Amino acid sequence: MICIKCGVPRAHRSHRAGLADNWNRLFRRVPYRCKACKARFYAYRSGEKSDSMRSGEERRIMSLRRKIRWKKTKKELAVYAVAGLIMAFVVYIALQQRMG
Ligand SMILES: [Zn+2]
Repeated sequence: MICIKCGVPRAHRSHRAGLADNWNRLFRRVPYRCKACKARFYAYRSGEKSDSMRSGEERRIMSLRRKIRWKKTKKELAVYAVAGLIMAFVVYIALQQRMG
């Protein structure tokens, strides 16, 4: 994460503590702490994915993760599709037997 104060990509998620952090949680904002300048700031969770706050390395890792996740999703969809077909077939057979 790139620090909003000094621009160095050394900001990391900070532990939530105190009222301010819980208040910000309502707005889906997450605390970050910069290891370079020690600044603490909040970023929107969706902002974690924003490219302007991410260094090149992080972006590479995230796009790789996205690809892996998509691969997994595709695999799951295939499994569901096959399971759905089997279910439809079983229902079809059951209906055929009831009619016959
Ligand atoms: Zn900083």
